[in-house]
Amino acid sequence: MKAHDGMYIDGAWRPAAGRDVIEVVNPADEQVIGQVPAGDATDVDTAVRAARAALAGWAATPPAERAARIAALRDVLVARRDEIAETVTAELGSPLKFSEAVHAGVPIAVAGTYATLAASYAFEEKVGNSTVFHEPIGVVGAITPWNYPLHQIVAKVAPALAAGCTIVLKPAEDTPLTAQLFAEAVHEAGVPAGVFNLVTGLGPVAGQALAEHPGVDLVSFTGSTAVGRRIAATAGAAVKKVALELGGKSANVILPGADLAKAVNVGVANVMSNSGQTCSAWTRMLVHSERYEEAVELAAAAAAKYGDRIGPVVNAAQRERVRGYIEKGVAEGARLVTGGPEAPCDRDRGYFVSPTVFADVTPGMTIAQEEIFGPVLSILRYEDEDDALEIANGTVYGLAGAVWAGDEAEAVAFARRMETGQVDINGARFNPAAPFGGYKQSGVGRELGVHGLAEYLQTKSLQF
Ligand code: NAD
Repeated sequence: MKAHDGMYIDGAWRPAAGRDVIEVVNPADEQVIGQVPAGDATDVDTAVRAARAALAGWAATPPAERAARIAALRDVLVARRDEIAETVTAELGSPLKFSEAVHAGVPIAVAGTYATLAASYAFEEKVGNSTVFHEPIGVVGAITPWNYPLHQIVAKVAPALAAGCTIVLKPAEDTPLTAQLFAEAVHEAGVPAGVFNLVTGLGPVAGQALAEHPGVDLVSFTGSTAVGRRIAATAGAAVKKVALELGGKSANVILPGADLAKAVNVGVANVMSNSGQTCSAWTRMLVHSERYEEAVELAAAAAAKYGDRIGPVVNAAQRERVRGYIEKGVAEGARLVTGGPEAPCDRDRGYFVSPTVFADVTPGMTIAQEEIFGPVLSILRYEDEDDALEIANGTVYGLAGAVWAGDEAEAVAFARRMETGQVDINGARFNPAAPFGGYKQSGVGRELGVHGLAEYLQTKSLQF
């Protein structure tokens, strides 16, 4: 696994302005596996200037050629798939099989959708006596989190490239090696110098400098609602566009006619995958009172089977945060049916948290309202559909969700009343071309597919 000691700016690895570094730690055994430079405002400024200088040329590049470069990027990701999976496992801690299938597999699929879209999208349309041009918004400042380190980078960079934008990426401090590997892939794919630039560094230093930089036209941020709010305020003051993909507290609503065992087992697997560090995880399971105890038993049994196989959480602070929420759940009167604040098995190294299930969770409890970002499931009881809807919609978030019913039309009718951006009906699979993003405080804007591409475009009308 290679760690570069410079920034990828203007098509080459260049020394950082300062000497500060970030140590990268393997969360499974707490060993340092590399270090990368911690960039500052000078590095960000150099990168933004490179992106600005490359903008006119890339924006004028025919969409078919932009599509060819994205397809080449996808092919490099395919060729380096094993290395991607190993790197994500080393710095995030997710089990290798999950890294191969999801952390490497999903970005390849997403890059593929944008190779197709860049070639086929109507960047020009007729509206009466006008021709409307969909033009690139300009220089994009992309700030990404660690939980799906490559997916979140590709979900911004691929549509930005397709639109004709240039980019400066500031990835999360916990997972910079995946970002450096991605920069190598961009280079190998023949993307012209300056079109994509990478500055590793700390959020409040490099991230903030990027969000505040006057040379950035759009800040596309994925991360916590707290940081998103600050970025939106900064961008708002500068009348700059933002796209925000923030936190979630999604509901998994199991209606009375559903296949209970399937709904519970898929629901538990959804929460435990990636050690619960998934913004769209269905962390609140809603079950009718008549089938409640049956569901609790099934969920406890399903969660207990995982043990430490889900992998650790990303760092010590995250482990303490998750344990704190588990203790709070107990203190507020929820019934702990499996797991708890102690590490699973006899793990004395690594940031492991036991897969945990709480029953008798009421909607006002902290664990039913706040994003935990760990392997913790809360099971809530409802009496009828209106009650279920009120609970499902009763948080500040609205990112995702699930509905299970015996009858698909019944599930769809319920899903249409949910205040959330994406709902899976009866366990349907992820669609990398469907718009992804939040209602309410889960965000502003959409990623993926044609809706994600639109975030990077602005319109110009010429009248004839
Ligand atoms: P975070 O907000 O702490 O960090 C995200 C990114 O922002 C990192 O690159 C970080 O360095 C940077 N950052 C931190 N402070 C900054 C500042 N003051 N100015 C500019 N940049 C700054 O979030 P995290 O802990 O890395 O990720 C977990 C959060 O991300 C969770 O809340 C999760 O729900 C959310 N998330 C949302 C989605 C989505 O699509 N909605 C996807 C994944 C994660």
